[in-house]
Amino acid sequence: MENRFDPGRLVRKGLQELVPYQEITYPGVIKLNANENPYDFPEEIRLAINEMLGPQSFTRYPDAMAQQLVQELAHCHGVSAEQIMVGNGSDELILDLMLTFGAGNRVVIAVPTFSMYGIHARVAGAEIVEIPRQFDFELDVPEIVRASGDAALVVLCSPNNPSGNSATVEQVQSILDNCPCPVVVDQAYVEFGGPDFLPLLDRYPNLVILRTFSKAYGLAGLRVGYLFAQSQVLQYLFKVKQPFNLNTFSQVAALTVLRHRDVFAPQVAEITRQRDILYNTMQQMPGFDVLPSDANYLMFKTGYSAADVFDGLLSRGVLVRNFGDPLLSQYLRVSVGQTEENVIFLRSLQQVI
Ligand code: PMP
Repeated sequence: MENRFDPGRLVRKGLQELVPYQEITYPGVIKLNANENPYDFPEEIRLAINEMLGPQSFTRYPDAMAQQLVQELAHCHGVSAEQIMVGNGSDELILDLMLTFGAGNRVVIAVPTFSMYGIHARVAGAEIVEIPRQFDFELDVPEIVRASGDAALVVLCSPNNPSGNSATVEQVQSILDNCPCPVVVDQAYVEFGGPDFLPLLDRYPNLVILRTFSKAYGLAGLRVGYLFAQSQVLQYLFKVKQPFNLNTFSQVAALTVLRHRDVFAPQVAEITRQRDILYNTMQQMPGFDVLPSDANYLMFKTGYSAADVFDGLLSRGVLVRNFGDPLLSQYLRVSVGQTEENVIFLRSLQQVI
C-alpha cells in the first residue's frame, strides 16, 4: 500500500503559517541591527570565567536550578531566590510564559513591540490580541485593561523595543491593579534608562519581570535571561522549564559578569551618552524624525522609503534594523555602537538622502 505520509496534515494551521527564523549575515559590516553591547568583551572577565571552569565542568550536566547564579542574582537585586527563574536567553522565558499561560488562551500584546512575543504565542497555540500603542507609542492602558478581562497573559515591554520609550510607574500600576492575569514587563534594556519596575514585585502577585545578560552585560552569544515573579506564578513556570536549560558555561559566565558588573557601568554610561549625541544630531537632520529613547537604540521615521535608506546604509557598510511589521513600514532602528561606528552611521545617513 502507498504510504501517503503528509506531516503538514498533523501540524495545526497557526504553526503552519509561521515562517522559520532566518537571518541574512553581512560579513564585515558595522552591525547596528541587534542592540548588542558594541564593545569587546573585557579580557579580565574572560580570564576569570576560564578560572572558574573545572575539569568536569563540561562532562557533567549543568546545575538544573543554576543555584549559585540565582542566589547571587537575588542578592544583587534585593529579592529572594524563590522569586527568580533563569533561562536560555529571555527568549526561552518568553516561550515558557506562553506555554504556561498562553496555550489555548488569549494573550494581550501591546504593539508594535518585540516580535518574539507573537512568535512564541503562536508556537504555544495562544490566541493573540494586539492592542496598538498610541501615535507616540505610549501604552493604551484602558484598552489593555479591557482586553485583559478574558486573557491569560498581558505582555508589555519597557523600554519598548523598537520605539525606545518606557512605560511609567503609574501606567504599569494601573494595569497591574486591573488585570486579572499575569502581566509581563520585559525590561531587557532597563540598564540604559526608564523606570525599573522591580520594586513593585512584592506588592503585585501578577507582576512578571524579564531581564537579560544580552544587552548591557555583553553576553548575547551565551544566552542568559532571568525572570522575577512571585512564587504563585513561578510554581507554574517551573512545571514547563527544561531541567538543563542553562548550560554550565553560560551559568559560570553570567555569575562572573555579575561579580564584575562594575566593569560594565562605564560602558553603559558611554552608550547612553552616545545615544543622546546620536539623537541630538539626528534631530537636526531634515527628512528624519527620531524618537527619544531610554534604551541603547533609536527608532527613526524616514521621509523617504525606509527600504531605500536601509539599502543605502548597507551599501555604505552599515547594517540597521528594518521591520516586516506594516505598522513600522516607514521606520528603521539603529543600535548605538562604538563612537567611530556612530560617526560612520551618521555620515552614511547624510549621504543616503
Ligand atoms: N526582549 C527584548 C525586548 C529584546 O529586544 C530581546 C533581544 N532582541 C530579547 C528580549 C531577547 O533577549 P535574549 O538574548 O535574552 O533572549
